[in-house]
Amino acid sequence: MARKIKNLKHKKTDIHLQYNCPECFSEHWLSLQENQTDGFLIVCECGTSIRTKKIKHIIFDYEEQDKPQNNPTIESLGETIPKDLEKSCCDILSNYGYKKNEVKSFLHKVFTDHLSFDVKFLVKETLKVIGEKDVEQSKAVPVQ
Ligand SMILES: [Zn+2]
Repeated sequence: MARKIKNLKHKKTDIHLQYNCPECFSEHWLSLQENQTDGFLIVCECGTSIRTKKIKHIIFDYEEQDKPQNNPTIESLGETIPKDLEKSCCDILSNYGYKKNEVKSFLHKVFTDHLSFDVKFLVKETLKVIGEKDVEQSKAVPVQ
C-alpha cells in the first residue's frame, strides 16, 4: 500500500555560512560545524586570519498547517522549560527582587516564544516582559 506522509520534518541540515574578508572582500564559506568548532580560523589568501562569531543554535520554526492552537509548535513538540534551566533563571531573577512564583509564568512565556536555552538571554527577555507589564500597570493606575 502506498502511504501518504504529511508534515515530515527534516532529519539533518546542511547549513553553510558566507563570510567576506573585511580586508580584501574575498568570499569564504563555512559549514555550521566549522563555525562551531573551537578555534576555527579562516586564513584568507590576502593573509588575514579571521575568527567568526560562533552560532549557538539554529531554530527551525515549522509552519503549522493543522488546526491552529494557542501555541501549536510548542505543544506538538512538548517543549517546556527544563527544570534546571528554570531554576538557574529564577535564581538570577531573585537577585532582582522577584519571587520564583512571580516570574515563572513570564519565564515560561519567554522560553516558549524564543525556545532559547541561554540563561542570560532568558533572564534579559523575562525582565523586559516584566518591565513592559509594570509600565502597562502604572499606566492603568491613575496618578494620585
Ligand atoms: Zn582577505
